[in-house]
Amino acid sequence: MEAGKKSSFRYSWVGLVCLLLLTQMKSAVAQDYSTLDVREKLVVANKILAMEGLVGPFGHVSVRVEGEGKFRISDHRSPNEVTVDHIKEVEIEITPEAVEDQGLYREVFIHSCIYRELPEVKAIVHTHAPYAVALGTLQRSDNNQVFPTTNPGANLGNFIPVFQPVGLISTPEKGMALARTLQGQNGVLLRGHGTVVVGTTLEQAVLRAIYLEFEARTQIRSRSAGEPIPYTSSESDLFKRTVAVEHAWHYYVDKFRQSVKNETLSHK
Ligand SMILES: [Zn+2]
Repeated sequence: MEAGKKSSFRYSWVGLVCLLLLTQMKSAVAQDYSTLDVREKLVVANKILAMEGLVGPFGHVSVRVEGEGKFRISDHRSPNEVTVDHIKEVEIEITPEAVEDQGLYREVFIHSCIYRELPEVKAIVHTHAPYAVALGTLQRSDNNQVFPTTNPGANLGNFIPVFQPVGLISTPEKGMALARTLQGQNGVLLRGHGTVVVGTTLEQAVLRAIYLEFEARTQIRSRSAGEPIPYTSSESDLFKRTVAVEHAWHYYVDKFRQSVKNETLSHK
């Protein structure tokens, strides 16, 4: 799309919605998602995670800047409030002192340490998703590993490790311990705290965060009725690479776009 046409499309759509709610996020989501730049995509990712109830006042999502030893993440604010102006470039080697100076999340070491330790990871999501928190609190006799019991849950890998230390991941040492806990899987439960998931794209990481909460919600429900049957490794291998990312992502972008329209209409 030519720049002029793109701009007029953006503003004509925004003109249809409420003037009171004009934000960069809403003009961005009015565009075809594929035409957004990476900062705009990060804004949409933040909003989708909030829409799905996986993050509230806390939680964050980042994407690696290829070849520069950096990643992009919003500054310290609620995901639902993030706009493109809040997206920062952060050094993978960031220190605790720099975190204070730059106004970043104290848990930015979740991101910096995983990017440092696992070069194949291109995007990371940290949530405080409620069912995943509940699942991570349960007594386990299985070496602190949760086995998937659903197709979406198998996107997380052959098992989902449970990181046992409680508290914020607010130091490089804790971040490195968390990175090692992943053990080649795509997500980890943080006991009493939340989740961390990784992906080779931003969209894949966000979908895996959604799928992990689906798995946790299903396990909490099924455990109330009996003992769910875990997937074997060969069964979870069928889903581990996360298929149909584009189709699933389109569903959530469209759901978000509809929610913005509905919200706007309700204010008329
Ligand atoms: Zn947290």
